[in-house]
Amino acid sequence: MALVNENYLKLPGNYLFSEIARRVNEFSTANPDATIIRMGIGDVTRPLPDAVIQSLHKAVDEMSQAETFKGYGPEQGYQFLVNKIIENDLNPRGLNIQNDEVFVSDGSKSDTGNIGDILSVKNKVAVTDPVYPVYVDTNAMAGRAGDFLEKTGKWSDILYIPCTADNNFIPALPAQKPDIIYLCYPNNPTGTTLKKEQLKVWVDYALSNKCLILFDAAYEAYISESDVPHSIYEIEGAKKVAIEFRSFSKTAGFTGTRCAYTIIPKELEAYTEKGEKVQLNKLWNRRHTTKFNGVPYIIQRAAEAVYSEEGKIQVSELVNYYMTNAKIIRESLLNMGFEIYGGINAPYIWLKTPNNMPSWDFFDLLLQKAHVVGTPGVGFGPSGEGYFRLTAFGKKEATLEAMDRLKTLFNK
Ligand code: PLP
Repeated sequence: MALVNENYLKLPGNYLFSEIARRVNEFSTANPDATIIRMGIGDVTRPLPDAVIQSLHKAVDEMSQAETFKGYGPEQGYQFLVNKIIENDLNPRGLNIQNDEVFVSDGSKSDTGNIGDILSVKNKVAVTDPVYPVYVDTNAMAGRAGDFLEKTGKWSDILYIPCTADNNFIPALPAQKPDIIYLCYPNNPTGTTLKKEQLKVWVDYALSNKCLILFDAAYEAYISESDVPHSIYEIEGAKKVAIEFRSFSKTAGFTGTRCAYTIIPKELEAYTEKGEKVQLNKLWNRRHTTKFNGVPYIIQRAAEAVYSEEGKIQVSELVNYYMTNAKIIRESLLNMGFEIYGGINAPYIWLKTPNNMPSWDFFDLLLQKAHVVGTPGVGFGPSGEGYFRLTAFGKKEATLEAMDRLKTLFNK
């Protein structure tokens, strides 16, 4: 008799974005003439930079010739890409990362989800709340989350660290000791960041308590303030306690092209139950080479072009485009009297709903009255209740139009 992984049966039915899609579909069926502006899902809308496209075409042509055709490549990524990542993203910040500490992959969603393969189910997991849902759901699938409690919207075995306006979105060290801590900065969904000394508190805590930090830096390219760290390894000692996830998705428009990388320093160790030290780099290498066959050659050539002279200029234009939208959203909402966060070092604006209106009610209000779709904060965790996320990934004209509609709605 084939038995299922019953942890999957504990997952609550309606994933956030499917519930949003259901409500939007229902609305558009009833109102076929309404033009809906989508500021909900965090997907990019601009095409790939020209340098990336050129490189992709060239690589496709290489695949057509026997002399340059590529079959299976190194699972960890081609050295041409790993070298460019290290030379451009990492070592200019003094991080001194080695080639065999970088693993190229098909996405940070996969990597943040799969990393649990090399970690015991007995680990106590902590997440900041609100949180990118993948961290919690993948731990639930692995049996590390306990049971989902409808009443609180929390998993019984996960430690939730609230990040709200009350603590200025700075997570406090937990009373109970976790073994694994997920940190995402710049943060999805709140768009907030930690300064160096605030991140240092967590690195020091992990060093003293033998914790592992899983640091998701998917939005690193959006950092504009000089005192915000781009990598957790800018903090002394972090290589002993942290894995960092980076992605080309939001940096260079690769959400549909798929390329990312994960850094696992060789200094980083976790433990067996007997207390013996084990290098996580070795375990991930074993996992990656066994379960993954590498990112396609053509995609890695496309990612390499992100670091060319033209590629760098085009990527920064892309980031500027979205951050101009973020500025439009920020300034418009501030003028309307909203309490808002984020949007300076991240393409997300996190707003407090007026009069503590529940997130889903605010979602329905915006959909019904302004035909604008955002994401209810509570969908990211219980501490997101009373908040709402708007993204800057839309087209500029649509962003301006959405803000005009909100002005009409709220300045009445
Ligand atoms: N991490 C965070 C915090 C995200 O918000 C996202 C995508 O929205 C991802 C990772 C996924 O990145 P990728 O496209 O590389 O899988």
